[in-house]
Amino acid sequence: MKLSITVIGTGRMGSALAGSLLQSGYPTTVWNRTRQKTDPLARLGAIVAPSVEEAVNAGEIIIVNVSDYEATKALLHSDAIASAIRGKLIVELTSGTPNGAREAAEWYREHGANYLDGAIMATPDYIGTEAGTILLAGPRAAFDTNRDVFRALGGNVQHVGEEPGRANGLDSALLAIMWGALFGTLHAIAVSQAEEIELGELARQWSATAPVIDGLVTDLIKRTSAGRFASDNETLSSISAHHGAMQHLLELMQFREIDRSIVDGYDAIFKRAIAAGHLHDDFAALSNFLATGK
Ligand code: NAP
Repeated sequence: MKLSITVIGTGRMGSALAGSLLQSGYPTTVWNRTRQKTDPLARLGAIVAPSVEEAVNAGEIIIVNVSDYEATKALLHSDAIASAIRGKLIVELTSGTPNGAREAAEWYREHGANYLDGAIMATPDYIGTEAGTILLAGPRAAFDTNRDVFRALGGNVQHVGEEPGRANGLDSALLAIMWGALFGTLHAIAVSQAEEIELGELARQWSATAPVIDGLVTDLIKRTSAGRFASDNETLSSISAHHGAMQHLLELMQFREIDRSIVDGYDAIFKRAIAAGHLHDDFAALSNFLATGK
């Protein structure tokens, strides 16, 4: 007998989660504020609950995927729901902060429920596929007991630690890399357009450059974790080399009147490190110059 699962929130992501559970044969109950969004899931066999309370009563595991933790609190953190969740497992897959996850874990603990807090590192089309990655934090036993359920959501669902904020912390860290790449791409597009370089050409050259940048990212994490900030014979590029090359980008953006606010921020970090005497250190030494001093 497969466990009964409830999915609260069937927006783009929640629908993908519920759809994958149905496809794997889990009896699935769904609830969504805008009821018509549950229609496609009902056609796949989902039971549509008329209220959050009935949805929570129907499932042994309650998966939550709404827009933010405030919405989750408004839906679930009430006396009526508190008695319905006792002894059940809540899996919060809504995006949030580490502190939000810790606060939620405490609330569920006080109300006798088990709690895993997750971060979905994928778009809805990845859910249920081998490459679908979801990070889960909280009691290891709750993860191990329900591996089959999580397997239905993706081939790469991982337990990342018992500390409830861990998945959300990793989420923010990985998204920082993603936004660095996406905003960098916006700059690359603006520079290409200003210099009348076809975007198809940019795409072709990016494919060749991407593995080099991937290597730099991996090396930066490795060197920082080992505290190897001084240049040595394995240094790929120094602060001096990066800072010099970035001045060309800054000059070009100035000349072409492209917004420099983000890259000026990079330059400020370089300048702090250089002023402190680190011009010839490995690029990784910049990691010591990010604290705001608060
Ligand atoms: P979405 O399509 O906009 O869905 C948002 C869901 O939240 C809907 O079910 C919406 O209900 C519900 N909701 C919002 N406020 C509510 C409230 N006050 N009370 C009850 N329900 C409320 O967004 P999504 O893409 O599915 O994202 C959902 C979560 O997954 C977010 O935390 C997002 O960061 C995370 N996530 C998404 C992706 C992605 O690629 N889409 C990737 C990783 C993580 P209604 O239908 O009634 O509006």
